[in-house]
Amino acid sequence: MKISLLSADVYNRIAAGEVVDRPYSVVKELVENAVDAGAAQITVEIEGGGKKRIRVSDDGGGIAVDDLPRAYAPHATSKLSSADDLFRIATLGFRGEAIASIASVSRMSIVSRTKESGEAYALTCEGGVLGEVKPAAGAQGTVVTADELFYNVPARRKFLKSDAQEEADVTGVMARFVLSRPEISFTYLSDGKVKYRSFGDGLESALAAVYGAGILENCTEIRAEKHGIRLYGFLGNRNFYKPNRTWQSLFVNGRYVVNQTVGAAVTNAYASYLMKRQYPFYVLFLEIPPEAVDVNVHPNKADVRFADNQIVYGCVYSIVSAVLDGNARALEYLAKAPAPLQETVSDGTVIPPAVRYAQPELSAAAPSAPERAPMSYGEAKKQLKFDVSAAGSAEPVFLRPGTAELEVRAPSPAAEDAFEENRRYLREQEAKARQERVEPDTLTYKGELFRTYLLYEAGDCVYMIDQHAAHERILYEALKEKTERRAVVSQPMIVPFVISVNAQEFAFLQKNFNILRDLGFEIEEFGGTSIKISAVPSDLMGMDLESFFGDVLSTMESLRAIRLADLLKDKLATAACKAAVKGGESLTEAEAYALIRRTGGDTGLKCPHGRPAVVTIKKSELEKMFKRIV
Ligand code: ADP
Ligand code: MG
Repeated sequence: MKISLLSADVYNRIAAGEVVDRPYSVVKELVENAVDAGAAQITVEIEGGGKKRIRVSDDGGGIAVDDLPRAYAPHATSKLSSADDLFRIATLGFRGEAIASIASVSRMSIVSRTKESGEAYALTCEGGVLGEVKPAAGAQGTVVTADELFYNVPARRKFLKSDAQEEADVTGVMARFVLSRPEISFTYLSDGKVKYRSFGDGLESALAAVYGAGILENCTEIRAEKHGIRLYGFLGNRNFYKPNRTWQSLFVNGRYVVNQTVGAAVTNAYASYLMKRQYPFYVLFLEIPPEAVDVNVHPNKADVRFADNQIVYGCVYSIVSAVLDGNARALEYLAKAPAPLQETVSDGTVIPPAVRYAQPELSAAAPSAPERAPMSYGEAKKQLKFDVSAAGSAEPVFLRPGTAELEVRAPSPAAEDAFEENRRYLREQEAKARQERVEPDTLTYKGELFRTYLLYEAGDCVYMIDQHAAHERILYEALKEKTERRAVVSQPMIVPFVISVNAQEFAFLQKNFNILRDLGFEIEEFGGTSIKISAVPSDLMGMDLESFFGDVLSTMESLRAIRLADLLKDKLATAACKAAVKGGESLTEAEAYALIRRTGGDTGLKCPHGRPAVVTIKKSELEKMFKRIV
């Protein structure tokens, strides 16, 4: 056997799998380079979900003609010169491997012109093989194009997802760039259609570019500083919630991350305002001293490690909950209040804001907290023990000391289990019920109680039916049966229902269009990431589409375990519930007979949620009540 060294080309193709595995990661690397180059305007164009083409153009500093070949070289970077620099990373990219990796698995070209040079130069690279530097036409800045990603690595190409899914993920990455770099003007196009256009004039405007201007009405802008940690951005109002976490963005020191500690702190602050499966909307920026955070976790894993989770948890939790609860302290956290940020100068002294936002009624009512100089991060850390034990201290460093980990609510699999359990229960109940049937034609309708319970008599039994529960069950069964036979009747709606969702949600729904159509929904794309529903299953006319789709979208993240079709049936049970006759509605005698006939005389009937729809009372039980028999 011979041990051979991997050629640089092979090494790069393997390594490319780490940094670059999908179009969105290519976009991320290229846009980061454009940002690092000091661009004010960045245009991102993708075709075929980025599989066919990714092009990033910027108006940044450009690459000098002599440096062009070096840009493609592995571990070549202009951003680090010594190992010491690693500790002071200001730029986004620093490993010098992105361009080399992408170039080894695509057909790439770079056209660039520096400010100093009057001319642009181009250099292509196909599957890692460099071409020649040639003069080209181009404005100041750089245009990097990566075509046919993984064209030379079929094994990796196979793992790319559908165009729509890849596009959705690129869109997710672009949303984060627009939000995290509000000073840069971004234009993002997919297959020639503009998806985002931001103007580089601030965070509020960036938020509107990503979510539509309407979002601003539902958010509160905050800008807070506590113990040397800065938290700013937009928090969805208390009654504004989303069906999943794709509406939450957190940036730590400028990087998008998904972080448990901060996530749990925000979620717990909202806990009393939102119900299960309702998720807050937020776009938050956390700035924390670089020495207290480790960003170099993994090139592709967007997480950070904090030196002290409790400080971060405590700060975020107390800021967000103060704002949500609307307490007096929140005033200093609101961005709209003209309170300048406390400034920490280089030697660590904190300069308190010169002007405090004054709102007479509120600040008068607030208990005057003892004056205390704001602490720096380091001081807060030192005083950790003191503050935790100082019960009743006016401004505890940690609202719930030591419980941060306990309070992390992992996305529990309980919902899925309960779902399966529920179904098993229903199946058992159904089996039992089949053995307890009464022939509907033998029943005599005797009237109603409280406009809710219908009374029927047969032989020596009285049957009481909960009209709502029974009707619900009937609708549900009919629908289930029809979907199984694929004979659903769609009922067109007079006014179509249009929902606007984000890119991930859009891709999810799109992937499941067929299942929804089988169920009787007429559903189609409606421009951008909007979806139009123009017909619903006829049994469910009048259903609450908004909450139905909210429920469907809330399952996006836990969907691996459940089949959407099953899940939709469950949702339809809920919808059936809403469409069924309610308690309190009087039925005519004919309707009462019709209802009992449609139950098939099943005395063990349950509503789709498992509550009984029929209660049987034997004559002998009545006789016992009246002590006729003992
Ligand atoms: P890194 O960003 O880690 O340095 P890359 O492989 O992403 O490594 O880029 C290599 C080098 O190419 C960069 O250090 C930079 O000098 C140059 N470069 C890449 N893209 C651009 C761009 N859009 N504008 C200017 N220079 C660029
Ligand atoms: Mg880079």
